[in-house]
Amino acid sequence: MKIYSFSVGGIVVEDSTVPPKDASVIAFLPGLSVIPLVQHTGSRAYPIVSVGDFVTEGMLIGRCQGPGSANIHATVPGRVVRMVSWKMAEGYTNDALVIRMEGSFEMLGKRQECYSWQGLSPDELCRLISECGIVEMEGMGEPAADMIASLGKLPEPYTLVVRCVFDDPWLAADYTLCRERLKAVAEGSVITALAARVSRIIFAVSHREKDLGDKLMAEAASFGIPVSLVPVSSRYPQKNRRELEYALRMYGKKEAVELGSLLILGPATLAAVHDAVKLRKPILDRYVAVGGSAVKTPQVMRVRIGTRIGEVFAECGGFIDTPRRIATGSPIMGRSVVDLDEPVVKTTTGVFAILRSQMGGTRKRNCIGCGECRTVCPVGLDPEALYKGCATEENREFHLKRAGECHGCGCCEVVCPSRLPLSTAIRNASPPGSRL
Ligand code: SF4
Ligand code: SF4
Repeated sequence: MKIYSFSVGGIVVEDSTVPPKDASVIAFLPGLSVIPLVQHTGSRAYPIVSVGDFVTEGMLIGRCQGPGSANIHATVPGRVVRMVSWKMAEGYTNDALVIRMEGSFEMLGKRQECYSWQGLSPDELCRLISECGIVEMEGMGEPAADMIASLGKLPEPYTLVVRCVFDDPWLAADYTLCRERLKAVAEGSVITALAARVSRIIFAVSHREKDLGDKLMAEAASFGIPVSLVPVSSRYPQKNRRELEYALRMYGKKEAVELGSLLILGPATLAAVHDAVKLRKPILDRYVAVGGSAVKTPQVMRVRIGTRIGEVFAECGGFIDTPRRIATGSPIMGRSVVDLDEPVVKTTTGVFAILRSQMGGTRKRNCIGCGECRTVCPVGLDPEALYKGCATEENREFHLKRAGECHGCGCCEVVCPSRLPLSTAIRNASPPGSRL
């Protein structure tokens, strides 16, 4: 089996504190839900309910405002008891509606009606995807309808890439979702393919999970659309757009397949597209990997959007000792959590709490010139030189230009024995437009 990969650098990531990924656990419904009006790239959704109003499960409560913005829905029935604002670790202020759960559920525990989508036009499919507030359920949360619209401005042909690349053990939630909701991921892929008018679907799957790829491909192929399976490496950062696209272009060249412009989406997003179009259901919950050395019982949980992160940890047995760091995402590219009342949002793939011992010391030392950072950089940069160069005036323009090529994978920072904040400093120095 030929395995496609990027050309240089990368690391093998291992972490024994991630949750087991064989099955998910359904989290308790939150008594109080905190539903942020920004869970996407663009401006905040405009609230269309007020404090004191009663909302139903799945009801539209925040309307999107232009490109980059996405609709926001109530994830539990209840009363809006207040509006809160808090400062995110990135510095911007987020607003949220707080819903106290009461009343009966419209969807939970009820038999779901399935709608036929085969006769719908691409525009009608996109409208449903947009109405249900579907965003890419990781990273910045770009609205899926915007991504489809952007693809339409690029040269044809189009290819949908289903990214089932598990290059970081903290992608346990995606992995579990793929196994448990395989049919939804496959059908969501076909729906998205029709909405985006693509001519082919590629399942880019980590080579160790080839059986998963075969099953996804068989499901999708039953809808009569051309599909292919491309085994890719599990080396981090294979999942990044640049590294994935490199591997796929290699595949296209070898197999003489013209891929054209790529729409790359993750399995959670495609399952959400399935729910939006087939069940007319917005994003109400998501799979979240909960773990880290400070957590008593790590597990993959299916959590309602709006559940506070503190409650999620409590359901995993709480902490065995005071955590040194709490964050969302993965330890390599995590986003710090400043308050345990912050909620799980559409893009929360994992939440972790780690002890000081897992951090392996935080004291910066001087560079020892080992060259490890250069070996792992997938772009072929010299992180050591950039780190020093960006901090001095000498050749500043040159260093800033090179820094703009960094895509912030974090490999250099992970391997640096001197614990220098290489990737953080390089990314901060690079022009904002260059950041992925
Ligand atoms: S963070 Fe930037 S400099 Fe560091 S390894 Fe990744 S691409 Fe290279
Ligand atoms: S990995 Fe760290 S210590 Fe080694 S050369 Fe790079 S910056 Fe210096």
